Amino acid sequence: LYNMVQDLKGNIRVYCRIRPIFNDGSVVDFIGQDGSLVISDPSKPQREGRKTFKFNKVFGPTSTQGEVFADIQPLIRSVMDGYNVCIFAYGQTGSGKTHTMSGPLNGSTKDLGINYLALSDLFQLSSMRKDITDYDIRVQMVEIYNEQVRDLLHNDSSTTKLEIRSCTADGGLSLPDATMHSVKSTADVVKLMKLGDENRVVSSTALNNRSSRSHSVLTVHVSGKDISGSTLRSCLHLVDLAGSERVDKSEVTGERLKEAQYINKSLSCLGDVITTLAQKNSHIPYRNSKLTLLLQDSLGGHAKTLMFAHVNPEVDSFGETVSTLKFAQRVSTV
Ligand code: ADP
Ligand code: MG
Repeated sequence: LYNMVQDLKGNIRVYCRIRPIFNDGSVVDFIGQDGSLVISDPSKPQREGRKTFKFNKVFGPTSTQGEVFADIQPLIRSVMDGYNVCIFAYGQTGSGKTHTMSGPLNGSTKDLGINYLALSDLFQLSSMRKDITDYDIRVQMVEIYNEQVRDLLHNDSSTTKLEIRSCTADGGLSLPDATMHSVKSTADVVKLMKLGDENRVVSSTALNNRSSRSHSVLTVHVSGKDISGSTLRSCLHLVDLAGSERVDKSEVTGERLKEAQYINKSLSCLGDVITTLAQKNSHIPYRNSKLTLLLQDSLGGHAKTLMFAHVNPEVDSFGETVSTLKFAQRVSTV
């Protein structure tokens, strides 16, 4: 069903989303309907400083949460037909990753992001199909910080370090020890998202803005049984990645340097995995990072991957913008 349309678009796609400007001028010159993006180097004359990139799609600074969601809705819905899907938010800190995935968790449902919109859509689809298929929807949420996995939905999340089970071909869970929460309504989802968010924030006061130094992974497990007795099981991973900014190695030491090295390594592993999948290589280097190991059963095969490369278009961020777009171009197949 939903998958047929999706197949035409390929299994790996890369979108770019540009944040609105808050202070400075913009480096963005042109956004094409066809997914092209032109930026210009503020330190050079315009003709010399132009760079062009091409993605599956580019969302400009005025794009809304609703517009972004409308585009990816069929992809999300393919989960209800048994397909595994991973959605990543990549970009430097402040570029809009959390806005896209969570949106503001301030009590109102206005501007809520993909996590919320995806789950409410899955509930809706489950209720539309209830005469044919009986669905069960559960979630887990973890963070990966310095290559350690921590449950974000556990009451005492600070003490639990989780092991990843790598061979899940038998349908077993890759994180059997992370708490599993049944969700039946959008209210349940908001409650859990807040708990996860609080657990991330708690540690960020102790350790230098940790929330931008860790990857957070919300996993939605869907299982269904239809009237003929056949069953399906699939999952949707919604990943808010650690900030991709390069830290100046001459300036940071100790804990900050270690964090930066872990982040660089896991983001480049993710890039390698997606690139080798796109090249249809048989050896995929999943084992090189916790993140790719955790997502192994949902990267490759029939699974679908979507990466949002987030851009802060302000002049000051030009260097990071170029490195984000280069990373995104490398994993892209267009
Ligand atoms: P990141 O998670 O990449 O560090 P955030 O999502 O926290 O970045 O975004 C940084 C700031 O910019 C936040 O205040 C956020 O609300 C705002 N912001 C990001 N993207 C958008 C957008 N598309 N529209 C409006 N505000 C945005
Ligand atoms: Mg964030």
